Amino acid sequence: MHTVFTLPDLRTARLPFSGTVGLVPTMGYLHEGHLSLIRRARDECEHVVVSIFINPTQFGPSEDLSKYPRDLDRDLKLIEPLGTDLVWVPTAESMYPQGYQTWVEVEEMTNPLEGAMRPGHFKGVTTVVAKLFNAVQPHNAYFGQKDAQQVAVIRQMTRDLNFPIEIVVCPIVREPDGLAMSSRNVYLDSAQRKAATVLFRSLNAAKEVYDKGERDAGMLRQITTEVLASEPLAQVQYVSCADYDTLEELDVVKGRALLSMAVFLGKTRLIDNLVLG
Ligand code: AMP
Repeated sequence: MHTVFTLPDLRTARLPFSGTVGLVPTMGYLHEGHLSLIRRARDECEHVVVSIFINPTQFGPSEDLSKYPRDLDRDLKLIEPLGTDLVWVPTAESMYPQGYQTWVEVEEMTNPLEGAMRPGHFKGVTTVVAKLFNAVQPHNAYFGQKDAQQVAVIRQMTRDLNFPIEIVVCPIVREPDGLAMSSRNVYLDSAQRKAATVLFRSLNAAKEVYDKGERDAGMLRQITTEVLASEPLAQVQYVSCADYDTLEELDVVKGRALLSMAVFLGKTRLIDNLVLG
């Protein structure tokens, strides 16, 4: 496994790859969710490139950029046994040198949900992913369903900018008690960690009534919200039941829908979701 830090070194290392290349973009502090993406890329591609970059432009001014967990040695040890060819760890200065002024922005789809709560977030995400795509030139790129809106936005960008790249979406990997794995889970103290299971429980409560035939999106949002409200440590930021493709809020669930949420436990903001239909 080769680890490179600069763009010229990445290009040199990428050059001899003759078969299909799979890219797994991450911000590091890897867990089983990330590793599942790498394994999937390994299964489907001849070469696997993992990028580790805490992209400053997708963090708002009051967000957790400076304290975002990082441990490159640990990450490399986790990646090594999975058969990754190349790990790219760009520096912020090389991605956004002095005078940087070019941005990639997806419009409507970034307005609701995470986009509404985190202004500018998706502009940072699409810009960095476009730069990673340009640099690595992968055939496939692997993303987690955990960040459902991110997947939708990146699909749209890939289509709109004609990137010849297959976007592969991998299922959410959860802890045994249902909490979706996240690098941010390390921020939770033990009481908050216990309380955090309420996200998955609330999704399941809505899924149960959906499976019994409930299609009123307002009702599904209400059931989810009620379960979340039963946990005193949880502060709901939003609960959404939206069209899976357009992310527009629904009145009635007809096709595929995305039930999603953002919830604070103390200062830690967690997101989770479930696809209905
Ligand atoms: P991050 O390092 O948080 O930017 O995540 C890198 C990639 O891993 C993104 O495509 C995420 O959606 C994906 N990911 C993060 N957590 C999980 C999880 N629990 N299950 C599956 N994929 C995940």
